[in-house]
Amino acid sequence: MAMVSEIYGSMVFNEHTMQERLPSATYKSLLKTIKEGQPLEIEVANVVAHAMKEWAIEKGATHFTHWFQPLTGITSEKHDSFLDPIEDGRAIMSFSGKELIQGEPDASSFPSGGLRATFEARGYTAWDPTSYAFIKDEVLCIPTAFCSYTGEALDKKTPLLRSMHAVEEQANRVLALFGWERQHIVPTLGAEQEYFLISEKDYAKRQDLVMCGRTLFGYAPCKGQELEEHYFGAIRPTVNEFMKELDDELWALGVSARTKHNEVAPAQHELAPIFTNVNRAIDENLLTMEKMRLLASHHGLVCLQHEKPFEGINGSGKHNNWSLSAGKKNLFDPGESPMDNLRFLVFLTGVIQAVDDYQELLRMSVASAGNDHRLGAHEAPPAIVSIFLGDELDAIVDALIDGHEYASAEKVAMDLGVAVLPNFLIDNTDRNRTSPFAFTGNKFEFRMPGSAVNLSDCNMILNTAMAKSLKDFADAMEGKAGEEFEAAAIDYIRETLKRHQRIIFNGNGYADEWQEEAARRGLANHRTTADALPCFVAPESIELFETFGVLTETEVRSRYEVKLEKYNKLMNIEARTMKRMVRRAYLPAINSYAAEVARNITAIRAASPTAPVDQQEELLRRLTEGIREIDAHLRALGKRHHETLEIADEQKKADTYAHEIVPIMDKLRAAVDGLEVLVDRDHWPVPTYNDLLFYV
Ligand code: ADP
Ligand code: MG
Repeated sequence: MAMVSEIYGSMVFNEHTMQERLPSATYKSLLKTIKEGQPLEIEVANVVAHAMKEWAIEKGATHFTHWFQPLTGITSEKHDSFLDPIEDGRAIMSFSGKELIQGEPDASSFPSGGLRATFEARGYTAWDPTSYAFIKDEVLCIPTAFCSYTGEALDKKTPLLRSMHAVEEQANRVLALFGWERQHIVPTLGAEQEYFLISEKDYAKRQDLVMCGRTLFGYAPCKGQELEEHYFGAIRPTVNEFMKELDDELWALGVSARTKHNEVAPAQHELAPIFTNVNRAIDENLLTMEKMRLLASHHGLVCLQHEKPFEGINGSGKHNNWSLSAGKKNLFDPGESPMDNLRFLVFLTGVIQAVDDYQELLRMSVASAGNDHRLGAHEAPPAIVSIFLGDELDAIVDALIDGHEYASAEKVAMDLGVAVLPNFLIDNTDRNRTSPFAFTGNKFEFRMPGSAVNLSDCNMILNTAMAKSLKDFADAMEGKAGEEFEAAAIDYIRETLKRHQRIIFNGNGYADEWQEEAARRGLANHRTTADALPCFVAPESIELFETFGVLTETEVRSRYEVKLEKYNKLMNIEARTMKRMVRRAYLPAINSYAAEVARNITAIRAASPTAPVDQQEELLRRLTEGIREIDAHLRALGKRHHETLEIADEQKKADTYAHEIVPIMDKLRAAVDGLEVLVDRDHWPVPTYNDLLFYV
């Protein structure tokens, strides 16, 4: 077996390969583009393209593709071969700088939220040299941004890159006040991916899993996760084989898959990579998700990435560990000197302000039909955004607000009026798992994202909101220096913390009292996607995105439309699947079992007129009453669903799905599930939770 260090990154055109393969002048100017965002000359692109092609062909590639992330959130690719026929009937393999830099996929089949109606359907892809090209299944994949012909972003990556630029600019302004030279500052991300593995055979027997990615029916298994035997348990051989193949493939792609373990729910697992810059980290996460789905089939498995495949069993999240780094320095590292402490406090305050002011946008960024089943379900944070700081930092914030001196164990007072921050913050282990946004030593862990989401949206919002906080600080402080700056900065921090203290919550986020307390504090609590989406197009949101050049108003509106449409389409699919399964699978099965029970009663009576048949009659009664109840809910669903499809306004349609259709679907499900435990196993038409969750 090859050494991991040999496999690692072998399919990636990374800096090492660039340096090896490119003339040194080309390498240097490409690095300038990557590191400093300088435009790339076509001559340089030609040389890079040639080297990339030679490298790719040596690795067995025959095609190339511009790899991009349309607003569906998943990745898209269209393969073109390097083949270039020449006159004498032979062919050469060619790849030009122009083909590397720009592509023109037909944009008309991707969601554009109205942009297509107003503008040309054509779109183009543009090389993102800051994320490495790689070879996947004999195709050279070039990460690209995807825009309309008039320049509107039609993808997830473009605004993310713009937001990275925005936060870098503003962070540099703030750091300049601390005497720092201009730095390359990048947001970093470590995305922990949760998923389920179930057998392919069972999966194929469930229309709901195939069509919707989640079970629309299913009674709770006899044993759930209460024994806590699965979490970090020994990994079973089939799963282990899958994980090994996954690791190998991901390592070759330069994805630093590091931690793998069984999760809380049966059949649930997690993969965590080592963090890297947010742009690359999201590309890596999307690759990881794709590889998981594809490789599972090699092992007779299906990988479920839905946020809530099984009711009553924990759903899957994707924790978003976010920080800001300046070279090797983490800006959320409290540091050791008083000035470092002050810098840390400025950035910390910035996050608190950003998360409070844009809590609704953050909630919106993770809203999806799937995640609606997870947030607030006593396994994932509630739909309310709040920040957990931990006891130590909380005490410091309190001291700052009250203006009294913070007494740490070390008791070293700073002349600035705050104590030197204890450097054991980094080992802050009393993590609050119920918090949606927790400070974990030197980074923030945003725990609301669901397993299926593309993390670009929430990071784009985090970066932009943070840019806003830093801009406010820099605007207020520029021109001040020395002691005057320090005093003004402390005042600024105190005032800002006072204004935003309501977002800090260290208690139990799963408790019902928190819902009430949060309402008193005026924090938003959008339980469904339909409720969460409108804030995207609120004037404050549009102003934020426009100020920092992250999204134009047109782009914001188009994205809102796309999200609404996606929600409505998914809900429509779920309602249809549900109706069809009830009509064609559940009702026939229950009826046939009821008929069998009836025949048994008649047979027993005929054979032995005095034999008691109360149990059988009671069962028959419950079955037939159950059938009547199912039928009533089915009719109600059919009627309301039909009316909903007629609603022209997408927001109204979403509201109806969320607040009227979902409750009927819940009732229908409960009625069917209630009979699952009465009907003979052999009559039941689909694999049950017991079957699905414990055999992989
Ligand atoms: P958990 O207890 O939540 O599993 P870990 O310490 O295992 O926490 O880290 C979770 C993720 O956070 C990993 O992907 C890790 O690489 C990432 N991470 C660590 N430091 C940073 C950072 N500075 N910025 C972003 N992500 C980070
Ligand atoms: Mg975590």
